[in-house]
Parts: sequence; structure tokens; C-alpha cells
Amino acid sequence: MCQAHNSPLSMHWKQRVCRRLPHEPVQANPRPCSNTKSPASKEQNTASITPTPTPTIAASCRPNWSSGPHTGTFRAAVLFVDFPDFPANTTISELYDPIASAPSSLFTTMSYGKLSLELVPILDRFFRMPSPSSSYDYSRALTLETHLRYINDALAAAGPSVSFSDIDTLYIIPPKFADEISFSTSTGVDVTAPDGSVISSTITFGQDLFFSWGPKTINHETGHALGLPDLYPYAAGEAVTKWVGGFDLMGLIAAQAPDLFAWHKWQLGWLEEEQVVCVLEAGVTEHRIGAIEVVDETREAPKAVAVPTSSTGYVMVEVRAALGADAGACGTGVLVYTADSALGSGEGPVRVIDSKPGSGGCGDNNGGELNDAPLQVGEELDTGLGVVVRVKAQEWNDFIVEVERK
Ligand SMILES: [Zn+2]
Repeated sequence: MCQAHNSPLSMHWKQRVCRRLPHEPVQANPRPCSNTKSPASKEQNTASITPTPTPTIAASCRPNWSSGPHTGTFRAAVLFVDFPDFPANTTISELYDPIASAPSSLFTTMSYGKLSLELVPILDRFFRMPSPSSSYDYSRALTLETHLRYINDALAAAGPSVSFSDIDTLYIIPPKFADEISFSTSTGVDVTAPDGSVISSTITFGQDLFFSWGPKTINHETGHALGLPDLYPYAAGEAVTKWVGGFDLMGLIAAQAPDLFAWHKWQLGWLEEEQVVCVLEAGVTEHRIGAIEVVDETREAPKAVAVPTSSTGYVMVEVRAALGADAGACGTGVLVYTADSALGSGEGPVRVIDSKPGSGGCGDNNGGELNDAPLQVGEELDTGLGVVVRVKAQEWNDFIVEVERK
């Protein structure tokens, strides 16, 4: 996944995900919650609103995230390296072919075509690192200092003839079976390539790319480069699936439902503001919500309901279906979770609320207990945060949901 728990790098990550990527322009006006009613709300066109009382539904209550949106083309240079103590033992094609299109395709699906991940591989040769793979303490005690030495050594090995201009992130891939480079991790610290280009994020891949998680490792780590946090706990002894089970690959790469939460798609600008309906005032409102995995232009149902519960905290309601990136999902229905823009990696920024605690969940150990968290028609969930969600009906992949804000 990302890095060894409690390593010094973990602390670094918390800092990294809370700052804007240097090459990103200041984003246009993340709007604070307002009481402005949206006369053009698509939600109002597709669902009946409980008439009395009529709560205010704001056009947007977009959280004040520290990074995002990210749409358009995102270019990743791909550098292959080997070591004096571990020369390359395969062709580059054997490493590159499995990742050449799958991660890009997944981002295209999850972003509804709004993000295009373009890989720019340097396929000529493996660049020989100046030091043995064991010299970076990578698998034992990788620090920011040794990580940056690893990255700068790789860039120096590539030399000034390799251009890194117009590159958003750098991938460094080691030989297969180079066990010292065991896991994949990332940094948002600027590095300068020999050609003079400044690279603002770098992902160094390890053996987990080949043997544990596969190509989705690239989506997870690139998610960090886009500003998304790890959703699993960093604290020692905690289950990886504690907070989000098998939802969203930022929590578990091998998730049964790897598509990103509406919360993340909202941050990244993959959801338009009108696709997230904000409920600000007390009362009961009814909403049609469309499945997060697909675009359905014929009905244009919103993709989520957001209920702010503090200056940074929200109750979020979305719909999961076994479609698109979640085609293999066992847990579908109306998913309710909390999200907090003030919490970073490892701190539980998103926490699924289980509608069936103690059920044992569904799926094959991919998130276990929380995987069957979604509500079905006729079910109700009191979040304990002054928000109750009731599922009234299902039409195609849409659900009709009643949200009571006390
Ligand atoms: Zn991570």
C-alpha cells in the first residue's frame, strides 16, 4: 500500500496531503456552506420533496479541501532502475506491459472521463542506480532523507538527456524480485531532474506492485499525487479495513468496491457541484441518488447527499452498484459515511457507518465486516449525528432516499 506504519515517512505523508501541489493553480472559490436555495437543482427535478417543512437545499457546501480539483491530463514519467547488487532480470516490457493501460483505464472510468492519466515511459533501458538496493534501508527504515536519496539517484542515473518537462508525477520502478525495494510509497517534496525540470511528486514502486496489489497500486499511489489521503489506520495493531472496509482503493487496493467515494470525486472535481446535494436545515427531504460508478445521462440523478455536521465534518450518502469499477462488488445499496476535510492520511478522514454491525460482512476478506454496510430498500440508519437515512425505493440503479436532519 503506501508505507510501513508509523515510519517517519508516515508523518511526512500527513504533511504532504494537506498542502496544495505546487504546480496546481489556486482553485476557484471553494464555497462555504450557504443557505442559498438552488432553483435549478437537478435533484428537485427528479425526486419529490416532502412539502412540510421545506428545508433549504443548498447548491453547494463544498468543503475547504487543501488540494484539488484534478481534471484533464495528468502525465507520469515512468523510469525503470536496477542496482549493482540486483541487475535487471527481465525485459522492461515484462514490467511495463501489465501497467501500460489498466491504471489509465481505471481512472478514466472512475472520473467519468474527466481525468486522463498519460504514462510517459522511458523504455530504452534500466538505469543503473549508483548504490546497492540494500543501501537505502528501503524495506526496514525508509526515511524522507533516504527516500529522496533514492529518487535523486534515479534521476541522476537517467541523466540530462531524459526530459521531464511537463511531467506531473514521476514513477520509479525497480526490477522484479528486488526484495529490498519491498513496498510502494510516494512523496510530494519537489525534486529537480538533471534536465532542470522540477518534479512535484514522485512515486517509488516496490514488489507489492508485482506480487501483492497489481496495477491498482498505481491508482492508489497516484491518488496521493492527486491529493487523496490513505483511508486505513496508521496506528499499529489496527485492521486495514477498520474505517472503510472494502470501499475505495485509497482504503484497500484490493477492495471489493474500489471506486472512489463521492467525497473524493467531489474533491477532485469529477462530480459537478450540482451532483452533490447539500442539506443544511432541519427537516426531512427526499432524494434520488444515482450509482456512483456510472454516468447515466438519461436521468441525471445526483450522486450524493452531503449533510454538514461541523465546520469540516459531513454525513455523506451515496449509492453503490456492481457496475463499472465496482463490477465485482458484494456490498451494494445506499452507503452512509462520515467524512472530514480536516483529517489526513491514517486519521480516518472517511468512516463508513455499518448498517449491519456484527453481520460478518460479505466477500472474501476484502474488508470483511463493513462490506455489507449499504442499506437496502425499507432499511433505516440513525447515524447518531442528528442525521437519519431511510431508503424508500429503488428504480433501476437509482435509490430514493429520505434524509432527516434533526
Ligand atoms: Zn497510500
